[in-house]
Amino acid sequence: PVVTRFAPSPTGYLHIGGARTALFNWLYARRRNGRFLIRVEDTDRERSTEAAVKAIFDGLDWLGLTADEPPVFQFSRADRHREVVDELLARGAAYRDFLTAEETGALRDAAKAEGRSFESPWRDREPTPEDLSKPFTVRFRRPMDAPVVVEDAVQGQVRWDSSALDDLVLLRSDGAPTYNLAVVVDDHDMGVTHVIRGDDHLNNAARQSLIYDALGWPRPVFAHISLIHGPDGAKLSKRHGAQAVHEYAEMGYLPEAMRNYLARLGWSHGDAELFSDEEAIAWFDLDGVGKAPARLDFDKLAYVNAHWLRQADDDRLVALTAEALVRRGEAADAARLAAAIPQVKDRAKTVLDLADQTAFARAERPLALDDKARGLIAGEARDRLSRLRDRLGGQTDWTAPALEAELKAFAEAEGVGFGKIGPVARAALTGGRPSPDLGKTLAALGREESLGRLDDALQ
Ligand code: GLU
Repeated sequence: PVVTRFAPSPTGYLHIGGARTALFNWLYARRRNGRFLIRVEDTDRERSTEAAVKAIFDGLDWLGLTADEPPVFQFSRADRHREVVDELLARGAAYRDFLTAEETGALRDAAKAEGRSFESPWRDREPTPEDLSKPFTVRFRRPMDAPVVVEDAVQGQVRWDSSALDDLVLLRSDGAPTYNLAVVVDDHDMGVTHVIRGDDHLNNAARQSLIYDALGWPRPVFAHISLIHGPDGAKLSKRHGAQAVHEYAEMGYLPEAMRNYLARLGWSHGDAELFSDEEAIAWFDLDGVGKAPARLDFDKLAYVNAHWLRQADDDRLVALTAEALVRRGEAADAARLAAAIPQVKDRAKTVLDLADQTAFARAERPLALDDKARGLIAGEARDRLSRLRDRLGGQTDWTAPALEAELKAFAEAEGVGFGKIGPVARAALTGGRPSPDLGKTLAALGREESLGRLDDALQ
């Protein structure tokens, strides 16, 4: 059975690159009826924080990428990691290195000056009982007789000369297991079959593969995906825009839109751009993951989000818009939002657009009319507005299409084009705020509010 995992280091928020990695692992597991796991790589005690653990889980929850089992915390497994180091020592695949940090530094410099790779003399030296009482690190004894070859599901076959690697430290002199060792032990113990992660870990795959081999453990399938770049092709950085998943949530993107968009960052299925989770799960495969870095495209993200906004339940959009308004310190009347959102959601790209585009419906009577609006509601136009008010007063079917038809009939009866009616009525109904078509505006406001606003303007 397929087991994938997302293995974040809890040193900050959930980055969209990390979110994409998590998504690929989740999709792959779902596609293969496998399991998707999470491992928190908290071995760096200085940089790992509780707040970051929470931020990452919040981000994953928001994205709907929940794990199939409780998370594993790497640091808590240090004893098990040390046990495997003992196993490697027993197999002769690792050795104790008694060099001090200074000695290592000096030998490393000397090797560098001579253009050779650093090797500890302890690689080939038996410690005496006296040596064993001194502090030591444990290093992996890498095989020198053959290149390291990794068959990567995305990158293809990748090779390293053993001289390009070194004898990796597995255990520090204070007994702390190192990162590459911990990753191998945890992935093995968690039953991970597929390691899908950023290609910044490709070199680690070489080191990790050798550890698997030395333990007689089967290697997982490695799939190293290219990192996300900004629209200009440069490595993604702050200047390109939001990097944290929670910022996208606050900007009014929907999680299903983020999943749809992030899935397309580096993966493709024909020319499909808009697809549901079910479709993504049915289609996702590592064959479709490209080698070239994917570029973030904010216009496309907005387009994908607009699509999913139109599909979303109105009740959910009302709740999300209300949350956004509360965050902005604005009043959020649920009934008014519920009436307005169906009329404006076709034009919105984000939840924040819904907040802005419902401003006309959320305004309180009497509306403050600007000079332009006042200027429009004067003379002949004002008389016509008064007749429109009377006509709408008799209107019973208060739906956008019925109101649209009524406005048309009124213009015909008046013998004028709609241009003589629309701007004036809109000024009275919205005070100049952005609003949809007039029929929709009236429908969004409701009968009582619409007539009240017209009366206010005619006072
Ligand atoms: N903790 C690593 C990171 O945050 C991921 C390591 C892995 O996926 O093997 O980049």
